[in-house]
Amino acid sequence: MIVQLSPTATQPDRERIEAAFREYKFTLSLVQTRSCDYLIAVGGSADLDIRLIGHLPGVKDVHFVRDSYQLSSSKWKVQPTVIDLGDGVTIGGGELALAAGPCSIESEAQVEAIADHLKASNVRIMRGGVFKPRTSPYSFRGGGIEYLTFFSEIAHSRGLKVITEVLEPSQIEPMHDLIDIYQVGARNSQNFSLLHELGKAGKPVMIKRGMSGTIDELLQSAEYVFSAGNEQIILCERGIRTYENAYRNTFDINAIPILKEKTHLPVLADPSHGIGIRRFVPNIACAAVAAGADGVIVEIHPTPELAKSDADQTLDFDEATRLFEATRKLALLRESF
Ligand code: PEP
Ligand code: MN
Repeated sequence: MIVQLSPTATQPDRERIEAAFREYKFTLSLVQTRSCDYLIAVGGSADLDIRLIGHLPGVKDVHFVRDSYQLSSSKWKVQPTVIDLGDGVTIGGGELALAAGPCSIESEAQVEAIADHLKASNVRIMRGGVFKPRTSPYSFRGGGIEYLTFFSEIAHSRGLKVITEVLEPSQIEPMHDLIDIYQVGARNSQNFSLLHELGKAGKPVMIKRGMSGTIDELLQSAEYVFSAGNEQIILCERGIRTYENAYRNTFDINAIPILKEKTHLPVLADPSHGIGIRRFVPNIACAAVAAGADGVIVEIHPTPELAKSDADQTLDFDEATRLFEATRKLALLRESF
C-alpha cells in the first residue's frame, strides 16, 4: 500500500498514520523523493479499511497496490512519468526519444564526429561507455573519467545530453557533474547496493534488463532506486539470453507493451544489444517503436568496423540516419493505431 503524505503533514500526523498501520501489523518504509514523501506499507492484515487511512490528517492519497514493486507500478500513478533532462529534452510522455553513440568512447575525434552527426539529425541524447563491463579482462575496458571529461564537454557544447554506464558506487560522485543519465548495465541490473546508491544520486537512472532477468525483476530493480529517493527512472529492454544462438540476444518485443502496462516509467529499446547484428538493428528498432517503446538507444560509430567494442552491432552514420527517420515516421503513425 502507498500513502502519499501531504506537504503540510506534521510530525503528530505522521505518527498517527504510522500507528494506524502498526495496529494491523504492517511494516512501514518512508520514501522521500524531491516531489513527495511516501509511506510504503507491506504485509499486515487484510482487515485494514483503507478509507480509515485516507481520512487521517496529513494523508494526500492512499493507493492499494499489491505488486511486489509498488512505487514503480502503474496501479497508483496512471499518468506516464516524463524524465525532463532540461533544454526541451524529455523521455516518456508521447514524444519519441532517440539516443545514439558508440559502445565505447575512444577519442576526441570520434566523439566530435558522432556529436556533430547527432546534432545535424536532431538527436538530443548521446551514449558512450567509459567504464566498460567486458567479459574478458584483456578487452578494452574504457577510458574512465578522463575520457568522460572530453565526452561531456564535446557533447554538451553541441546541446546534447550524456548517458553513460556506471559500474560501481564509487564512480557515482565523480561522474555526477559530467553526465545527464546514469546507465545501469545488464550485468548490474540486480546490483542492489549500486541501485540503492543511485537512488540518492539526484540524476535520472536508466536500468537495463538483466541478461536472464524477468520483467518483474526489472521493475523491482527500479523500485530499489525509487525507494531510495529517486523517481527519475527509465527502463531499457536490451534482449535476454535464451537457448537461441543465431544472434547475440533475444530482443523481447513482448516486454515493451507489458512494461508499458505495468509501470508509469518510460521504456526504451536497445536493438543493438537486442539482436547484435548490424544489418537487422534498424528493423528491430522499428518493431520496438511499433510495440510502444518511448524511445530507442543505439550504437553508432564513424567507422563501425574499427570500433573497439561491439563493432558487429554498430551502425554507420547513413544507417543511423535511416533508423532515426524510420522510427520517427513510425512514432507518428502509431498515434493512429
Ligand atoms: C552497452 O550499452 O554498451 C552495454 C554494455 O550494454 P548491456 O549492459 O545491455 O550489455
Ligand atoms: Mn555495447
